[in-house]
Amino acid sequence: MTSPRESRDPKTLRPATRLVHGGSLRSSFGETSEALFLTQGYLYETMETAEKRFKGDEPGFIYSRFSNPTVAMFEKRMALIEGAEAARATASGMAAVTAALMGQVKAGDHVVAARALFGSCLYVVEDLLPRFGVETTLVEGTDLDQWRAAVRPNTKTAFLESPTNPTLEIIDIAAVADILHAAGATLVVDNVFATPLHQHPLALGADCVVYSATKHIDGQGRVLGGVILASEPFIADNIHNFLRQTGPSLSPFNAWTLLKSLETLPLRVAAQARSAARVADALAAHPAVSRVLYPGRDDHPQAALAKAQMSSGGTMLAFEVAGGKDAAFRMANALTIVGISNNLGDAKSLITHPETTTHQRLKPEQRAALGIGPGLLRLSVGLEDTEDLIDDLCQALDKAAG
Ligand SMILES: *Cc1c(COP(=O)(O)O)cnc(C)c1O
Repeated sequence: MTSPRESRDPKTLRPATRLVHGGSLRSSFGETSEALFLTQGYLYETMETAEKRFKGDEPGFIYSRFSNPTVAMFEKRMALIEGAEAARATASGMAAVTAALMGQVKAGDHVVAARALFGSCLYVVEDLLPRFGVETTLVEGTDLDQWRAAVRPNTKTAFLESPTNPTLEIIDIAAVADILHAAGATLVVDNVFATPLHQHPLALGADCVVYSATKHIDGQGRVLGGVILASEPFIADNIHNFLRQTGPSLSPFNAWTLLKSLETLPLRVAAQARSAARVADALAAHPAVSRVLYPGRDDHPQAALAKAQMSSGGTMLAFEVAGGKDAAFRMANALTIVGISNNLGDAKSLITHPETTTHQRLKPEQRAALGIGPGLLRLSVGLEDTEDLIDDLCQALDKAAG
């Protein structure tokens, strides 16, 4: 007999409860905290059992490249919070992006992507796919006419990030999904900046959502991980076999770390977003700052779309220091709490200079098209006291100006 606890459908629970209880698989020991199954393989009672498992006639684990109980708990919990039918975990966010795209295409297909991409995503779209005979077109993601013009009869899928890195532009996910669907193509959305809590791409019409779990999902700067979320048929047709046979599997240890992090994700992300909104206002009021880009502010170029598509301005912001690269460097070097790092979504606040780090590889005209100037800094707001952060940023800005 199953207990009332076990028979409760997790879909009837609200998000915070799903993130604490969803997907748990308890061993015979009845542990409260989810177990870490550091095992490569599994024993079968009999040869007949092995035969049935391999045939798919009996549920159960076969090999940890395919699936593992700890990884399965993480996948189930992610599917529950995203509202997706299926999820597959990967070793990193880039493994998720690569599989979500490569798993769908073959030579002769065409892929459209928004130009403002995380550097490695740009490599996959611009360099890697064309090497295998998949043509790609990059568009200005906020311009729907460019999406319409880019779509061709052989367009198979499209890829975008919103808000974008590092200038926090907002792309209209529902409108882009409509354009792709009308052409018989799919849309993959990298939802890292918005987090699973503030934006729901599947509900907006996307076919597949990917995360770097390395960011807010871990949220404490420890492990790499990624996840792909979509309908059962999308995963079965495009992702399942690709991942099993090529092997970018999430390690059980990393899955366990990420699984436990999901329990506190809503608390962390809400606190970080609240803080980010106040930090953005404080930066905008400082005379050494010429521009603040934060999706939750009314002066954001797409404030209305941001409000419609996201339930919060998020934890990320960008700002321009008057005085260009020298002033931006002086400012960041004078910080005493905020760390200099290209990582994001961490409990620790982190600042980076996109022109000389994450976007260094781009040509100057590409950077200009993306609005990445020499004075631009990107800030990931952490869990420190908001007043301490504002004090630190303002004293550093005073030094940059002085
Ligand atoms: C970090 C990041 C990735 C890549 O994730 P890894 O876990 O570092 O492989 C992809 N997209 C976005 C938007 C990211 O911020």
